[in-house]
Amino acid sequence: TFYLWMCLYIEDYVRRNGCLRKPSHGLDNSLFHIALELAKVLGDEGVINFEDVVHVIMKITDSSGYCFHVIFAADGRSLPECFKLFDLFHILTTDHQTVTRITKEVIEDFAAENVVYLELRTTPKQNESKGMTKLSYMKAVINGIQAVDTVDVAFVTSGANNLPLSETTPVNCISNCNKRKKIYVRLLLSIDRRETTASAMETVKLARELKDFGVVGLDLSGNPIVGEWETFLPALKHAKEIGLPITLHCGEVPNHKEIKAMIDFCPQRIGHACFLKEEEWTRVKVLRIPVEICLTSNIQMIEHDCAADIYKVNHPVALCTDDSGLFSTSLSNEYHLAASTFGLNKRDMFILARSAIQFSFADLEVKEELSKIFCEAEGTLF
Ligand code: 5GP
Repeated sequence: TFYLWMCLYIEDYVRRNGCLRKPSHGLDNSLFHIALELAKVLGDEGVINFEDVVHVIMKITDSSGYCFHVIFAADGRSLPECFKLFDLFHILTTDHQTVTRITKEVIEDFAAENVVYLELRTTPKQNESKGMTKLSYMKAVINGIQAVDTVDVAFVTSGANNLPLSETTPVNCISNCNKRKKIYVRLLLSIDRRETTASAMETVKLARELKDFGVVGLDLSGNPIVGEWETFLPALKHAKEIGLPITLHCGEVPNHKEIKAMIDFCPQRIGHACFLKEEEWTRVKVLRIPVEICLTSNIQMIEHDCAADIYKVNHPVALCTDDSGLFSTSLSNEYHLAASTFGLNKRDMFILARSAIQFSFADLEVKEELSKIFCEAEGTLF
């Protein structure tokens, strides 16, 4: 159920073939089959109403391309249904063990695609029935990062032993870096739009406490028709004051009062931005607010040429996957889509990936390392 933001990527398939081809990411809709299986188990246990959730799952899998924004565009009822699906995944997956497993696997999947820097975002959750607090949820995530064994993970940091995760050993780069793939992993903590001001503030405080455990910023996400901007503003202002970068899901629905307030807030990045009006785009461009583009998730960005337009005027953009499981995509697939949408050649794609270094929330040292990686790759690619 993780929502992913992806920053850097060296295309494996370009490297190998010197040309573009659609990667076979093999995700298909297996996620939905698994969800159905898990739902059946929980239904039998009486935890959920199987008939209710099966309707949501089937409706989404039946439509073209599992993309809720596509469905939303075609049918106004579907946005809440998609968030119902997220809720379902939460019921199916929110226990410590599963969170750890998902974290590990998601990192390994991205690393297998030659992703070199991953900003993974997730919403710290409380679940009394599982003895879960926001902190213990994050411990489960961090355990997942540490459990990755197929690649080297560049995670965290000095001084971490004083933090509330003292039983968790911080990991720098596990040795053997020359022989194995290496991926930098950083975390963004999401505030769900259903949360109260106090709960949002708790997430900001947690993000600060976990700074030495790879947490580099905050995100505001969740069902865009739920919640008021004013509810989250105090927590987001506090995050700004303590120097935590912020990205906002902005303009997923045409709520122009909120879009304006979000742009006025001047976050370090915005995501999606599907329903911005001309004058709103103008302000985003003037303020140079980088845009996270998820082409599969936001098909109307393609249809309305928004993504291509901002790319062409050299506005800072970064390609991301959104939830790769839910949207049945991969970063290779997103680059493939971008190549056709923006008309990119191999060098353009390389530059696009490399430029995202500046908009990542990583610290300067990591940015320098990433620049070096791209510099080396450039020599072999061109
Ligand atoms: P989690 O935080 O549980 O790891 O990831 C799933 C959550 O991320 C969803 O429940 C939702 O709040 C948020 N999310 C994922 N994708 C999107 C998206 O495209 N738009 C919005 N607004 N929220 C999203």
